[in-house]
Amino acid sequence: MPTKCITRHRGASSQNRVRHPSDIHLTLSAIALCVILSTWGKTEAWGKTEARGKTEAWSKTEALRHSTRTPKCSPKTERIGLFIHRTPRLSSVSSPSGLSTDDLWLTAQLTEANALFREIGVCFYIQDDLPLPISESVMATRAQRTALGRGKRRLHRGQIELFIVNRLEDVDVEDTEIRGVHWRDPRDRKGRRWVILSRIARAKVLAHELGHYFGLPHSKYLRSIMNKKPRRSPPMKDRGFVDDEYKIMKRFWRKMKRSGHLKPAS
Ligand SMILES: [Zn+2]
Repeated sequence: MPTKCITRHRGASSQNRVRHPSDIHLTLSAIALCVILSTWGKTEAWGKTEARGKTEAWSKTEALRHSTRTPKCSPKTERIGLFIHRTPRLSSVSSPSGLSTDDLWLTAQLTEANALFREIGVCFYIQDDLPLPISESVMATRAQRTALGRGKRRLHRGQIELFIVNRLEDVDVEDTEIRGVHWRDPRDRKGRRWVILSRIARAKVLAHELGHYFGLPHSKYLRSIMNKKPRRSPPMKDRGFVDDEYKIMKRFWRKMKRSGHLKPAS
């Protein structure tokens, strides 16, 4: 029997309104419970070649692990706001199984990212959740990716913009879908950057793209989520960042704070 979970819908009137962190924590805790119930007894898989047709699910252990780590920032971390911009969800989009609503799916992404970024003292939270028009729900070209982050209403200096779309095409390989991208505005490649996620993304894709945001290139470490090569071992639950990558991220994090590119919440 399908598990019914909370789904929030926000209109344009919520734009620029900052939600209280405790509201978000309460909602996300409820969502975590739904994740447990809706992902029981399944397994996880990963790999770009699996972007089409297949789905992700979590094992029972994995779901329980998520339930205890669901986004709640530790006082020892510095909090960075994410401005979510999301298009209406199309029913034809197949998200990883067990993550049948945006809230479940987003919670999984944030939970994984926060678990991995805790090492450098960073925690992400939802600063605001803004609607995007359906006309922007399919990203097929470079120009469309660039246009997403332009416009005054989409710039929040000090925080990270995260765009959620229904389809994100590989601009280098025709008729191929990808799960996420860290995108730079060609006019200001260092200063104006954002993350775009497709709803087909598995749970660690946000962490991967934020890894790019924090200065990481792709790598060949078997344990690293920055290694895009499909492989069976180690299992996805054991993958994260390696020590050398954490060193780069720490340096980059200090640099972004110094320049004001990212401003932790007080
Ligand atoms: Zn990448």
